[in-house]
Amino acid sequence: MPHILIVEDEAAIADTLVFALQGEGFTTTWLNLAEAALEFQQRTPADLLILDVGLPDISGFEACKRLRRFSEVPVIFLTARDAEIDRVVGLEIGADDYVVKPFSPREVAARVKAILKRMAPRASEPAVADGGLFRVDAERVQIHYREQLLVLTRHEFRLLQALLAQPERVFAREQLLDALGVPADAGYERNIDSHIKSLRAKLRQVAPDAEPIQTHRGLGYSYSPRSA
Ligand code: CA
Repeated sequence: MPHILIVEDEAAIADTLVFALQGEGFTTTWLNLAEAALEFQQRTPADLLILDVGLPDISGFEACKRLRRFSEVPVIFLTARDAEIDRVVGLEIGADDYVVKPFSPREVAARVKAILKRMAPRASEPAVADGGLFRVDAERVQIHYREQLLVLTRHEFRLLQALLAQPERVFAREQLLDALGVPADAGYERNIDSHIKSLRAKLRQVAPDAEPIQTHRGLGYSYSPRSA
């Protein structure tokens, strides 16, 4: 059974989550400090974290940034504010979803299930896929291009992985959001362009004259092996 780590300093909120998640058959651990959660995740990795943004020691955003240095575990943020900026900041830091307080614990449990389901096919993809000049190692979250390791953010990795998996397919921004595991209503579409831009800059450092990622004006992006 998947193990869910709840990081929340309000006991009443944590209790309702524990109850809802255990009702769905998940096992849970509840911690009220971010530092303790990071330690826990290093020792005994949970399958998903539910992370409150307003924690007493360090913020959930900061905790997620630190978490991403050693873990790709899915994260759902709990926040008291419904500002789009928070959503975008959260997704940029590497959260997988967002829930605004007050929330329905059953709704959170449903999202936990959805995220774990979404992650599952990735695990069954071949560990190392050979895409011509690219080599994708899904388990290590690494991509080599022309034998050189690319230093990618998590979002850049997922974007490139999605593009490489289907050469010549034109992906709309919404479809790339899906590849990132970002909900389409998060107001995040415009960020795709900046991720593609930084991805291209990294590819250009390896091969200045190649243009493996093609822009299709008004449509989206594709990977072109002929231009790699
Ligand atoms: Ca709090």
